Amino acid sequence: MSDVEGPVTTGRHCVAVAVETPHHAALEALLDYEATHALAPGTLVRVPLGRHERPGIVWARQRPAAAGPVLRPVSEVLEGLPPLSAHWMALVAFAAAYYQRHVGELALTVLPPELRRSDDRQLGRRLTRLLREPEVAAPGAAAAADMPALSVEQAAALAALQADASGTTLLHGVTGSGKTEVYLRLAAQVLAAGRQVLVLVPEINLTPQLEARFAARFPGRRLVSLHSALTPAQRLNHWLLAHLGRADLVLGTRLAVFAPMPRLGLVVVDEEHDASFKQQEGARYSARDLAVWRGQNEQVPVLLGSATPSLETWQRAEQGRYQRLTLATRIGAGAMPRVRLLDTRQLPRQRGVLPAVAAPLLDAVRQRIARGEQSLLLLNRRGYAPVLHCHHCSWKSGCPHCSAWRVFHKADRTLRCHHCGFAEPVPRACPDCGNLDIAPLGRGTEKLEEQLAALLPGARVARIDADSTRHKGALESQLGAVHDGEVDVLVGTQMVAKGHDFRRMTLVAAIDPDGALYSSDFRAGERLFALLMQAGGRAGRSAEQAAASEMWVQTASPEHPLYQALVKHDFSAFAASQLAERRSAGLPPYSSLALVRAEAREAAVATAFLQAASEAAAALAEGGAVSVYPPVPPAVPRVAGVERMQMLLESASRPALQRFLSAWLPGLQALRKQHKGLARWAVDVDPLVI
Ligand code: ADP
Ligand code: ZN
Ligand code: ZN
Repeated sequence: MSDVEGPVTTGRHCVAVAVETPHHAALEALLDYEATHALAPGTLVRVPLGRHERPGIVWARQRPAAAGPVLRPVSEVLEGLPPLSAHWMALVAFAAAYYQRHVGELALTVLPPELRRSDDRQLGRRLTRLLREPEVAAPGAAAAADMPALSVEQAAALAALQADASGTTLLHGVTGSGKTEVYLRLAAQVLAAGRQVLVLVPEINLTPQLEARFAARFPGRRLVSLHSALTPAQRLNHWLLAHLGRADLVLGTRLAVFAPMPRLGLVVVDEEHDASFKQQEGARYSARDLAVWRGQNEQVPVLLGSATPSLETWQRAEQGRYQRLTLATRIGAGAMPRVRLLDTRQLPRQRGVLPAVAAPLLDAVRQRIARGEQSLLLLNRRGYAPVLHCHHCSWKSGCPHCSAWRVFHKADRTLRCHHCGFAEPVPRACPDCGNLDIAPLGRGTEKLEEQLAALLPGARVARIDADSTRHKGALESQLGAVHDGEVDVLVGTQMVAKGHDFRRMTLVAAIDPDGALYSSDFRAGERLFALLMQAGGRAGRSAEQAAASEMWVQTASPEHPLYQALVKHDFSAFAASQLAERRSAGLPPYSSLALVRAEAREAAVATAFLQAASEAAAALAEGGAVSVYPPVPPAVPRVAGVERMQMLLESASRPALQRFLSAWLPGLQALRKQHKGLARWAVDVDPLVI
């Protein structure tokens, strides 16, 4: 495909258009259409595909429509929209290649859905309305009085960032050390230089707090958010403001990494270790990793902030590939909470059973209540009990569609599957033997809430988890109640451990988090450590309370190195021990992984497909550098009546794995046809959970 020299303005033109074709469809990544005039790459068009009209993006420069097959004409050109930039197209092309997707599929799915639906007329009207809104007056700075004087550590970090503003920097700072203040100061400089700032956060419910802080600091600057909870019209408007360069600050979740920003000058990834930055379906991209790539490609600094960096990021900092800046102390000299390990093996049992909350911990909670302070009890399992059980015949509340137990939810007396959502009223008697004595086994947040209410008469006990916050606005009002001091004891899942700044909280306790220590998932320890550090950071956020703040861990393995590092608040000791383990086991970041997943009604079909794929792999030249492991079932093999199998690929060399995947995967599309009954297959590059 040779580009035409010079501008071509008349005659028929052939344009290569990226369109959203079904993944693994036999269609080429780019399709040729005919246009009546020259179209710049990045131009949005609508094109016929089969019997439908689809949105597309002009991807390559036009060439003259020479002899050859007659091409279908482009249906419509969205003239009103400036073309997407070469930088944007490079980011999408890289992401598509790296995560093994068609460029058209990725390019179109990362556009706002409303944009994909719009025609030129609709878009034109919207742009007119948007541009009519007055440009913000004089972009004033916040009054200096509203800005805190930087701490010594913050000032040093900022000076280092000013001295070397290129490349990627890890800002490693304990919770409450003032990382956000560093983002704000750096953003101020970038804005003053006329550039745009992109801030990525892991979760939608963390955006309002941060949005408020940025808005307060930069009055007169236009700030937009980008996440999936916006209405389609809002999301399109915000995207357009970013793309047109009208928005100075873009704050969003992982999908915002693809926001087109013509004046981009800084990318911040807050809580960079968070698993939410990894998209878990479709193109399974890591927004954190793409942010780093984007920064390098656009020669814009990238700031990764975390109290507990991912081991991937930490290792790069150790190697000097990222600059590392540390904020070791909390603002206002607030001490980190003292960590106490409560050894459950030493505790007295009641009829052989451990109490939900050990007596010393319960006393500590009571003291907090007496002082008008708050406590957080963290239990990472929602529902009342993980399973219902018949003592007579050993029946358990399994899900008929999944290889998982259905969780007992007492509030609405249902058995609910957390994998497929299947829910039924709790049976009156054992479905197998008719015994009336069926009882819950184990404990979830609902039960802990109930037990605490019984143990602490008069105390105001509340619960926040995915169940309590199902309705729109519920989370905000529940968090509001905690902030307003209407709650003495809060029971919650990891949901409450992140980001929230509870001023009156002086006790955080993790109830039996040991499961992660013995998980088959090699990242479980890393996640637990981050969760506990994060949760501990909820305690004693205000300086006068910091001294009295404690984090308790109720555990049967207090000697475990993870807990020992936690007691010392020593992330680097923890990271060093984990990295040593990863190195000897050949796991990331010392190797690169990809996971191929296959789904079918029968496990044998999925296995046969993966086996055939594995044989095809053996024939490839690149194969030597890549290990292909046998197909195995995942932790929950059957979900909603579909059996799942997976196959792990591992290589010491990321480029070798990439070359291998590019050579291997196209063949699997053909192979699929030989395996009737295969429902789906997909590849996950750099999987987070294996
Ligand atoms: P992090 O993002 O590291 O958790 P924050 O930036 O949220 O920390 O800072 C914690 C608290 O300290 C916030 O309430 C913030 O307003 C305040 N703060 C940050 N920097 C300073 C400073 N230099 N002087 C006074 N207060 C500060
Ligand atoms: Zn029974
Ligand atoms: Zn189920």
